[in-house]
Amino acid sequence: MTTLAVDIGGTKIAAAVCDENDSIIQRWRVPTPMDADAINENIAKIYREAASSHDDIQAIGISAAGNVAADRRTLTFAANIPAWIDYDLSEHVGALIDHAVPVIVENDANCAGWGEYVHGAGQGSRNMVALTVGTGLGGAIVIDGHLYRGSYGMAAELGHLPMVPDGDHCGCGLRGCAERYTSGTSLENFAKSAVRRRPQDAKRLLELCGGDVNKLEGPMVSQAAQEGDELGLYAFGKIGEWLGRTMAAISAVLDPDLFVIGGGVVAVGDILLEPARYNYARFLEASAYRTHAKIVAATAGQDAGLIGAANLALH
Ligand SMILES: [Zn+2]
Repeated sequence: MTTLAVDIGGTKIAAAVCDENDSIIQRWRVPTPMDADAINENIAKIYREAASSHDDIQAIGISAAGNVAADRRTLTFAANIPAWIDYDLSEHVGALIDHAVPVIVENDANCAGWGEYVHGAGQGSRNMVALTVGTGLGGAIVIDGHLYRGSYGMAAELGHLPMVPDGDHCGCGLRGCAERYTSGTSLENFAKSAVRRRPQDAKRLLELCGGDVNKLEGPMVSQAAQEGDELGLYAFGKIGEWLGRTMAAISAVLDPDLFVIGGGVVAVGDILLEPARYNYARFLEASAYRTHAKIVAATAGQDAGLIGAANLALH
């Protein structure tokens, strides 16, 4: 018994046939077309190829960057694909493969968080919150061992928790959202403003970006911080602080036992997680008189989304 998992990212479509334990047995990777029809055709083509060598595919699980309705078929909105407004992705893909297998659609952060829960750092937790620190800040919530999707599929948009009244403008149209202060993008912004403010201390960061602060990117800040560079550590301290504040706000609602932090920037480990833990404790209500959630790095890696999509499609 196998599943075809598909992860539609901003630049590439990754796909994999997974066995009943969600282990990947065959992979595909193609560039993501910007056109919705072309995306559907790509997925159908991968399915046909997969089905020619695996005759036991039970379902297709699709991880998509967008808001997915409670039916797990329809994208209600996606920032990157204009056609995905009230768009029944399940039906569009299903029609191209003669509805040979059911097609289940889930939000990408939910898939990645679920992948962490079933096969990564979230194993054994009862109530888990996963936060993916990437371009934005993605969230997934597991309550009593089940992925929590809310009433209309819109739960766990944790990157858009309003943290700062009338704060920085967010891509979602609102202001002061958590992801404006804790994400890969905000890491770059904190580092850039520190370089501009304190050029005398920015020797290493300026070296890494070739002397042009506008070309400073997240991985350079990670490298500098890991070398002990003061401004690099400062930038991680800032996004770590906001990550801690955000988790404290989440705990006021959900009281989870575990936060799993994923995304590229978490490769620096405690450089990010220590300020996050410190500020989580600092801003948590009744902090001294309650059990604190553990805060750990994700372990399922880049395949978390595929693994999660495969598992959700099968169950
Ligand atoms: Zn927002």
